[in-house]
Amino acid sequence: MIGFEYARAASVADAVRQMAESPDAKFVDLMKMDVERPAKLIDVSKLPLDQVEETAGGGLRIGALVANSDLAYHPLVERRYPVLSSALLAGASQQLRNMASVGGNLLQRTRCPYFYDLVTPCNKREPGAGCSAVDGLNRMNAILGTSESCIAVHPSDMCVALAVLEATVRVTGPRGERVIALSDFHRLPGDTPQRDTNLEGDELITSVELPARGFAANHTYLKIRDRLSYAFALVSVAVGLELEGGAIRQARFALGGVAHKPWRNAEAEAALQGRAPDEAAFAAAADLMLREARGFGHNTFKIDLARRALVRALSQAARGTPQSQSSKKIT
Ligand SMILES: Cc1cc2nc3c(=O)[nH]c(=O)nc-3n(C[C@H](O)[C@H](O)[C@H](O)COP(=O)(O)OP(=O)(O)OC[C@H]3O[C@@H](n4cnc5c(N)ncnc54)[C@H](O)[C@@H]3O)c2cc1C
Ligand code: SF4
Repeated sequence: MIGFEYARAASVADAVRQMAESPDAKFVDLMKMDVERPAKLIDVSKLPLDQVEETAGGGLRIGALVANSDLAYHPLVERRYPVLSSALLAGASQQLRNMASVGGNLLQRTRCPYFYDLVTPCNKREPGAGCSAVDGLNRMNAILGTSESCIAVHPSDMCVALAVLEATVRVTGPRGERVIALSDFHRLPGDTPQRDTNLEGDELITSVELPARGFAANHTYLKIRDRLSYAFALVSVAVGLELEGGAIRQARFALGGVAHKPWRNAEAEAALQGRAPDEAAFAAAADLMLREARGFGHNTFKIDLARRALVRALSQAARGTPQSQSSKKIT
């Protein structure tokens, strides 16, 4: 039993003040598994950050404490950002989604088994200890953006859709407020795998903002996993397309389950611009997306799986037949 101090934050400013006063504090996790041992726990769950509001620019501001279920079934999200709704419903289980928050999902840590196994080396848990996954059991690990220090993946479904929607994350801390593009929020492991994101330890996420463009007509979220429900992605794909006159005007797509962050590739997206939405164009874009991919043995199958999932997802989005998260039969 590890002793720790508990405090409830009365406001966002109070949460930030308490965090600044106690560098060893945490906003709320991983204590049960003994992976983290914060000296103080600051409860932010009662802060007024649970609203979904329209912004002046035609977008949406989503409070950091909005539950994943509430967000997935919010009428504005279902209608204008269905790829986000779909990605949320592909994650975890109904019970977990009822409890999980937007901020917590953004900050959820890798599911690499060695990270949770306190007796095997893991650079993410203990910098400098070594990485057990590179030559170990790495079936769920990364194929893109890896480093010698770490080949973990970021496990969120929600974040893959947020990458395609080009969301921003609003945070506040002792130095004031700032906005971080979703693409800059999560980091690649490099030689500092202990840092998952560019959020500072004393900063609180207050909201996620979506721009007006939601790709409501042509989108999909395709998640490939070992079981059809309640399993993390081996590979997932979020797609948003804008079609005009039989050609692709804009394409956005991101892969989940393959890297330390939702994986986008500007060159692969640009390659679809002006092309007819056919399999040849999608295969060429998928080749660009996976060009730098590298397998580590057990996970090498992911390279081809990701390529095929991307072609499938682009086809689903182009046809306007997005993947259903209720029947889960892959069309
Ligand atoms: C068995 C299981 C299966 C799951 N499967 C999936 C899946 O398939 N797909 C998927 O996407 N997710 C999945 N999840 C993750 C789940 O959906 C939650 O998002 C995740 O567990 C985080 O929980 P939480 O949202 O309650 O955050 P918490 O546990 O409350 O917080 C997580 C971390 O974020 C910090 N934090 C939380 N809010 C803030 C804030 N506003 N500002 C700053 N820091 C903050 C906390 O300090 C903590 O370190 C799964 C989880 C479990 C346990
Ligand atoms: S892949 Fe990353 S999280 Fe997994 S053992 Fe290696 S350093 Fe740890």
